[in-house]
Amino acid sequence: MAENGSKQGVVECENCIHFREAPYEALRTGCYHPDLMQAKQKAAYLDEQQIPGDHTVLNRNGDCSYYEAPEPKPSIWKRLFSLEA
Ligand code: SF4
Repeated sequence: MAENGSKQGVVECENCIHFREAPYEALRTGCYHPDLMQAKQKAAYLDEQQIPGDHTVLNRNGDCSYYEAPEPKPSIWKRLFSLEA
């Protein structure tokens, strides 16, 4: 597995910061990158009307150029020391 959580140049939506899964992260499972969504709303109260992009189509070949890996978490020691400070 490569550093960014992908397999040898293949990116997986499940490892991308733009991917949200229903029912806990969003109403609909899919890609929430602003350029790839089918319908997006600016106002938060219109969230239900948002339609994400179909990640199975957008990243069919595992080479999505919009892929972004999440920020790596700081080590447990760094987090513990930051609590004490
Ligand atoms: S389609 Fe691209 S931008 Fe969208 S979740 Fe998948 S990898 Fe990320």
